[in-house]
Amino acid sequence: MEKRVYFDNAATTPTHPQVVEAMLPYFTQSFGNPSSIYEVGQINKRAIDNARQQVADLINAKPEELFFTSGATEADNWAVKGIAESYKNKGNHIITSNIEHHAILHTCEYLEKNGFEVTYLPVDENGLIKIDDLKDAIKDTTILITIMFANNEIGTIQPIKEIGKVAKEKGIIFHTDAVQAVGQVPIDVEDMNIDMLSLTGHKFNGPKGTGALYVRKGIKLKAFIHGGAQERRRRGGTENVPCIVGLGKAAELAKVNLKVKISKLIKLRDKLIKGIKEEIPYCRLNGDAVKRLPNNVNFSFEFIEGESLLIMLDMKGISASSGSACTSGSLDPSHVLLGIGLPHEIAHGSLRLTLGNDNTEEDVDYLLEVLPDIVKRLRDMSPLYEDFIKNK
Ligand SMILES: *Cc1c(COP(=O)(O)O)cnc(C)c1O
Repeated sequence: MEKRVYFDNAATTPTHPQVVEAMLPYFTQSFGNPSSIYEVGQINKRAIDNARQQVADLINAKPEELFFTSGATEADNWAVKGIAESYKNKGNHIITSNIEHHAILHTCEYLEKNGFEVTYLPVDENGLIKIDDLKDAIKDTTILITIMFANNEIGTIQPIKEIGKVAKEKGIIFHTDAVQAVGQVPIDVEDMNIDMLSLTGHKFNGPKGTGALYVRKGIKLKAFIHGGAQERRRRGGTENVPCIVGLGKAAELAKVNLKVKISKLIKLRDKLIKGIKEEIPYCRLNGDAVKRLPNNVNFSFEFIEGESLLIMLDMKGISASSGSACTSGSLDPSHVLLGIGLPHEIAHGSLRLTLGNDNTEEDVDYLLEVLPDIVKRLRDMSPLYEDFIKNK
């Protein structure tokens, strides 16, 4: 087999073998319905309780503050629509940022069509919101602030603790989409004054299709899926026991390995950043250089197309991602890259490399060996680059 290097861990991660091992008995041996009164059902109820504790421990929450969902898209939808519905008598205003994941942005747009008012805070050239902008945006009618912990494209980490402090002082609920931060950086919902938080298993070596919404005790939140009494009557439907067990195991492993993982990934990340800057002219690091996820590298290369770059990297066995959404049928570059002020043509030439547990220094060396040559070949084919060199 040719060499394969996976640099797209922000899109999804492989399920950890110990997670798979923990899940397996719940398909065939311990398959009972957790709502059943007999022993095989009750064993599974305890397995769910255990997983809830494991996830709670990862973010310093209490188990009864966690609700399992089908992933972060559902958790984000539930958080935003649920608060809108539960607190509409208090007000109709929501504050978010313009670089959120679509699970938040499209939910906010939906609410705007239904009588809610949304403020989309701008970000600076590194992707950070300004605390003063947040303070200025708050009104008497503001019921929710929802700002992502860390951005999935450029890796910028927001000033979460400061946002939490502002929200607390004003008595406004603060939700954060922490998908990219969970298992990557320490999170403490108490210390950071986070009232609600979305997470998903498959971004930190857990199974796909399983996530959770943390809801601080005392917050009113309407049921999202009406049905049985599961998840304390907030989310009906027979629990996905194997995946919930897997999510719990992934959370436990993430907590145990966090420190080692952070230092390992920062080393690889910084080697990639340094190598790319040194080897490739006319490039720009996107996202904050310091307030940055340990696993994120995002560059724009002038005079090339991100899509062609991805195809050529794939031919060399490297899986990566770009900042343009062409694959999803749209020619617009990502709203995140436009949000940090990149012109269209530069946003189009973007490359995101996101590291994971399995990446090694050899992977980084291999990337640094092939990337400069690919960029050069693409530029040599570009009429824009030709003009640029002529006029230099
Ligand atoms: C992946 C991702 C989501 C969606 O998570 P799913 O579990 O795949 O629905 C939401 N927000 C962010 C920031 C993400 O990176």
